[in-house]
Amino acid sequence: MADDLPTVCVVGAGPAGIYAAHLLTQSMPAVTVDLLEKLPVPYGLVRYGVAPDHPRIKKIVDSLHQLLENPSIRLLCDIEVGRDVTVEQLLSGYDAVVLATGADRDATLDIPGHDLAGSHGAAAFVSWYDAHPDADPDWPLDATEAAVIGAGNVALDITRMLAKPADALLHTDVPEHVHAGFAGSALRDIHLFARRGPADTRFSPLELRELGEQRDVDVIVDPAEIELDEHGRRMVAQFTPKRQIVDTLQGWAAREPTGAPRRVHLHFYRAPVRIEGTDHVEALTVERTAPDDLGRTTGTGEYETHPVQAVYRAVGYTGSPVPGAPFDPARGAIPHAAGRVLDDDGATIPGLYATGWIKRGPVGLIGSTKSDAKETVESLVADLAPRGGSTRVDGLLARRPVTWEGWLRVDAAELAAGVARGRDRVKLVTREELVAAAREDG
Ligand SMILES: Cc1cc2nc3c(=O)[nH]c(=O)nc-3n(C[C@H](O)[C@H](O)[C@H](O)COP(=O)(O)OP(=O)(O)OC[C@H]3O[C@@H](n4cnc5c(N)ncnc54)[C@H](O)[C@@H]3O)c2cc1C
Repeated sequence: MADDLPTVCVVGAGPAGIYAAHLLTQSMPAVTVDLLEKLPVPYGLVRYGVAPDHPRIKKIVDSLHQLLENPSIRLLCDIEVGRDVTVEQLLSGYDAVVLATGADRDATLDIPGHDLAGSHGAAAFVSWYDAHPDADPDWPLDATEAAVIGAGNVALDITRMLAKPADALLHTDVPEHVHAGFAGSALRDIHLFARRGPADTRFSPLELRELGEQRDVDVIVDPAEIELDEHGRRMVAQFTPKRQIVDTLQGWAAREPTGAPRRVHLHFYRAPVRIEGTDHVEALTVERTAPDDLGRTTGTGEYETHPVQAVYRAVGYTGSPVPGAPFDPARGAIPHAAGRVLDDDGATIPGLYATGWIKRGPVGLIGSTKSDAKETVESLVADLAPRGGSTRVDGLLARRPVTWEGWLRVDAAELAAGVARGRDRVKLVTREELVAAAREDG
């Protein structure tokens, strides 16, 4: 009887949730998966995190889209777990629940002045340029000098997006207000500060190289700051990506600036100490650091103050707790054993699982959410004992979800908006626009 077939609810339609839903249908052909998403549209950070000038990565949406074209998966967007329905209700309505709620907030950088006007978390800026429906449409780009704090790919995304000539975004999916915001930018100098040395950054070599391939931008590196110590030499000898990073930086250090209208200055061995200003950012003070043999750094007591009017803190993302589920604030993630969610005493909670960034913490590329989902789905399938008679989410929702057909209508509307402007796609922005486009009756 259909009622005896297994039912699973996956919460979060980012890559982790979509891969988990897909793997569930592969492992249990009779399963029905409901995929709940709080935003009116699916794809999580692939749509609202990956930079718009990275079309090759954005294309991952196409393969996720194909996975969702599966009649065993029911997409229900614009439904937030914790607001529209509780974890407890889901646990009683399904045979199992998988939390794949990702990470959408900035980790804190607790230095004086971090809350001044003009000090921005990376997540807010990324949400603005990726046209997240909850982002403020106005972004201040009136600073002539800005600092970016961080040494990972998000710091590179932010630096590149700030430096990029606005017309280079005209072939991307950014809506008009984002293009206009960048077109009005007053920025001349962007300073990126990394606490450690060049061989200890978390940059991807390709993404770093891309920074120097932009027109009208000079990348400036002080040769003295990228000299390798004993530890750096070991890293470069052992790991090809580290060598590629250092090669790229050495190439830039040897280059003469061309007099381009924008300059990106890369600073190493600089730890942020204080954002200066009374009611808005006026400068950033950093302390020079020195490495030890293991690549750790300590402060030297030597300080520098760089005049900047904006600071972007790209020191990592963190997950948000899902009401009714355990949460480890230190990791910004849900405690688990092989994907099985653990309560405060370390015991597994029957039927509750986690996958993706909310499980592992906010590190790793989209590809790693696939292997991660595999582990969680294996645990779930090994445990599953369908109870029959699942009530699912139907009957609990006070609002009408945006379904797969709704997303197809949004997709078509965005593609049509793109054609009208000679582009592949232009994103719809606000919740109202997205939900209206999703409705059959508009
Ligand atoms: C700025 C940035 C740039 C990146 N660029 C790249 C890149 O170029 N290449 C690459 O490979 N990786 C990149 N990544 C990493 C990649 O985005 C992540 O590896 C991946 O998105 C993690 O997937 P996830 O499904 O766990 O989380 P997410 O993508 O965050 O998806 C989680 C989903 O859950 C939803 N959700 C949250 N809470 C609830 C709730 N209570 N109820 C219902 N739904 C909820 C969210 O709205 C979201 O849609 C980038 C990350 C960031 C932050």
